[in-house]
Amino acid sequence: MVADIIKEIFSHNAAFASSRDERYFGAHMKAQHPKITLVCCCDARVHATVIAPDPIDRVFTIETIGNQMASAQGSVDYGVLHLHTPLLLILGHTDCGAVKAFMKGYEQENEAIRRELDHLKETIPTPGTGSFEEALVANVKQNVLRQVDKALERYRALVEEGRLTVMGAVYDFTGEFGKGLGKVSILSVNGKTDPAELASMPQLAGLDLGNCLA
Ligand SMILES: [Zn+2]
Repeated sequence: MVADIIKEIFSHNAAFASSRDERYFGAHMKAQHPKITLVCCCDARVHATVIAPDPIDRVFTIETIGNQMASAQGSVDYGVLHLHTPLLLILGHTDCGAVKAFMKGYEQENEAIRRELDHLKETIPTPGTGSFEEALVANVKQNVLRQVDKALERYRALVEEGRLTVMGAVYDFTGEFGKGLGKVSILSVNGKTDPAELASMPQLAGLDLGNCLA
């Protein structure tokens, strides 16, 4: 079983390596040039490939359970402060197991997992209401919005200077947002959530907002 998995890794890697030439690798051999610092969930159903066909050298990815900056703040700082990506994207997702665990109670988890889930108390201080499914979607959104607020506090100077945009969005592979399976919907850009305000932001110029806003 594991042997099959490892064999698959090397057969995929051989195909990957042979399908790209020296020019491809040469472009990033000496340095990386990401445009996006992406904070997303470790969930196996969420990857940078949903926002970039080839994330290599384009997306500086930080994956933590519940797409939380607090679990890997140094890595997020590295993308924003050292690699100077113009965009910090906090990407939540539907059916998030971390948010579900937070809602159900996670006392039985080990200390390391508890410590990471504990951070969600800061970003989901008021749990959503209604059915579990409704509350889950509300909490996923709330977590993203608060992560954006925290990023705006931390990187305020860069945002004010126009050198950084912080965007919060949700990747929806369950159809919760009614925009189609697999679609990413924007919740906030630099803390702005009102559609009229978002429409006037230069960062969103040329975007079909009816299709991209939650
Ligand atoms: Zn998740």
